[in-house]
Amino acid sequence: MILLSTPHAFGYKKPNNITPDIVARMGDYVGNGGGVVEQDFTNALLNLPLYIEDCLLSLNCELTQQEEIDLKKILNIARLNSKDSEKLIFLSGKDSGKLFYTEGENRVRLAVTGLTNDGPIFINSDLLYEDIDNRDIPAINFGQIVALLIHETGHLTGLENHHYLDYLGAKVSSNMDLNKKRIDYFLSYNKQLSLEVVNFSSGYTFSTIQMYYLDKSFSLTPDFRKKISCEDESLFPVGMKLENIHWGKEYSISPDSSIVPFKGWITITCFDGRGMTWIEERVFEAHLQLNSNATYSIMKMIIE
Ligand SMILES: [Zn+2]
Repeated sequence: MILLSTPHAFGYKKPNNITPDIVARMGDYVGNGGGVVEQDFTNALLNLPLYIEDCLLSLNCELTQQEEIDLKKILNIARLNSKDSEKLIFLSGKDSGKLFYTEGENRVRLAVTGLTNDGPIFINSDLLYEDIDNRDIPAINFGQIVALLIHETGHLTGLENHHYLDYLGAKVSSNMDLNKKRIDYFLSYNKQLSLEVVNFSSGYTFSTIQMYYLDKSFSLTPDFRKKISCEDESLFPVGMKLENIHWGKEYSISPDSSIVPFKGWITITCFDGRGMTWIEERVFEAHLQLNSNATYSIMKMIIE
């Protein structure tokens, strides 16, 4: 169960905005699949520690001493949050009384959190999509979600200054964007397929690979972790980096699915379990099978 200990709306005060009926309905919203934006939130929460660590290592972030101290505190909470599948709670603002409403500013917030790190982060699901021609179009992108989660996690460490947290969030998010490559593909059946790969400075981290297909967002990183191996079989991968990524030629196996190869360079950090690491620079070819019911699999992975 989630403990609703003294929630603050952005640290202004202690509102009694979380009414019993909201608490009663919370279970319905915790960890629900949702659409592409909800999935992006879940993946951003999961990967937030990686983005923060990279900002702490990277010169691009140009952190002051104080920012570094605060970001390390945020990192500690982000690591706990990434293991908590009930951290994010999506609620419709319309049905949630004044939970997302900040009095005095007369505005509705996208997210609200408490000032203690065991509290949930509430996301206003009314503001995640825009209705364009009766289609739900994401109103917030992955980088903005990362910045927002840094902001909210910052509140969970006790920091109250919203502008400062926006600034820290922007630093982490723009460092991530600098290390991101996106490739798009238009499938023969007129649907778009996109991949976003983020590399990290540390050789001991796996690149994150996010796939967008049929209004869904998937993380391919676990698939890659499972399918890659070191050339020397006594070693095992502890990190990977993907570069020069591009698409191969689509081929179809049935009316309901098609296969698109995704290729590039892969650098694998291989560890012997005792203290030695080797770097293997190789090429990969992952054959993505995409099905019309919005599921996928990596049906073949070649590493040479
Ligand atoms: Zn705030």
